[in-house]
Amino acid sequence: MNTDQLLQRIESKRDEVTALTQELVRIPTVNPPGDAYEACARFLGERLAKRGFAVQYIRAKGAPGDSDAYPRTNVVARYEGSHKGECVHFNSHIDVVEAGSGWTFEPFGGQIQDGKIYGRGSCDMKGGLASSVIACEALIESLGSGVALHGALEISGTVDEESGGYSGVGYLAERGYFSKPKVHHVIIPEPLGVDRICLGHRGVYWAEVETKGRIAHGSMPFLGDSAINHMSAFIHLLETQLGPKLALRRTQEPVEPVGARVSTLNINSVHGGQVVQRYAVDARGWPTADLPAPTVAHSCKAVLDRRFIAEEQLDDVKREILDMLQELQRTRPGFDFNIKEIMSFVPTATPTDAPVVAATAIAIARVLGREPSYISSPGTYDQKHIVRSGHLRDVIAYGPGILDLAHQPDEYVGIQELVDSAKVMALAALRLSAGTAGDLH
Ligand SMILES: [Zn+2]
Repeated sequence: MNTDQLLQRIESKRDEVTALTQELVRIPTVNPPGDAYEACARFLGERLAKRGFAVQYIRAKGAPGDSDAYPRTNVVARYEGSHKGECVHFNSHIDVVEAGSGWTFEPFGGQIQDGKIYGRGSCDMKGGLASSVIACEALIESLGSGVALHGALEISGTVDEESGGYSGVGYLAERGYFSKPKVHHVIIPEPLGVDRICLGHRGVYWAEVETKGRIAHGSMPFLGDSAINHMSAFIHLLETQLGPKLALRRTQEPVEPVGARVSTLNINSVHGGQVVQRYAVDARGWPTADLPAPTVAHSCKAVLDRRFIAEEQLDDVKREILDMLQELQRTRPGFDFNIKEIMSFVPTATPTDAPVVAATAIAIARVLGREPSYISSPGTYDQKHIVRSGHLRDVIAYGPGILDLAHQPDEYVGIQELVDSAKVMALAALRLSAGTAGDLH
């Protein structure tokens, strides 16, 4: 099979992949709240339908975040090859985080400077989405001229990855969209870099801890019992006892950055006592907004974000936090608490000899002339749903862009990277769909 022409064809689509990335960046799919999802899904679906894909729009009705004002609309497009084979699925999230401040470029402008496309989502991950679209389109255009597609190609644009993916890949995976026999291999074009293959991610356990107190007048705090003081005792233990232990637990997985090759804990938020108000006084010293009423806090809530490594068990992760709370209950007068799990996912790691890893590695060597590096992600991404709900193990993240730029001002993706990764994706897809590991060149 002659793949030189396929690679040349992708090379000639440099302007096309650039334009497609720009067009996607200009659709401001900001999450939260989930703006313009429908518009972005339709834009993608209509383009792929014109190229022979069967297109489905799947709204996650009633799922988290879904409303008529902000419909959680996903798009899944499938192109059937003429031979029997396996399906390669490219999954990209279409949502982006808010622009934030500090931009010198227009956040949703898609401006180009020095070979880079700037804009929110250019790197994470509309550039990767554009590369996968161009890769598949070039493959389809090459059919008949030395290239045969076995199996099928799928491209999906899914919502809400930035907020857990429950209405996106999570919703679809529960309904069989990421399972055999429909799909066999998944590449998620997150911005990990053109020569890096991301095998999986650390585990995550989110929990809300509430400490309880007794309300009283704030001028006589001794008549009450402050939930905030109780929370501070708990946080003190987290910092002085748990923190040092976690820092000693090192993983063998190639997590990048290296600092994340240990267990970590972040206190995501703390809220105690009265709700936050805007307190202000005018020039006379008179309040211009609501004043706080003096009370002893009867409740304080903290959200914990615990990331754990492959060498740890989720049950142990949970128990060690519960043990500390129970210890305080025994030793600290008046200490009472509630703990509620918000979310948990175990670590996942696709083996380096899995088909999707092997095919992508061969393609990287061919296109870039160097061996890939294998990495693992400190945070989770949609792979967690594909593994857990789809029961599919042959999944990686691979795509253009520099991960550190994600969610930053002046986020960009390099045009050369878009082209290179499109070539890698096309070669990998061709190999995987044929169900062969090594005989294509
Ligand atoms: Zn992303």
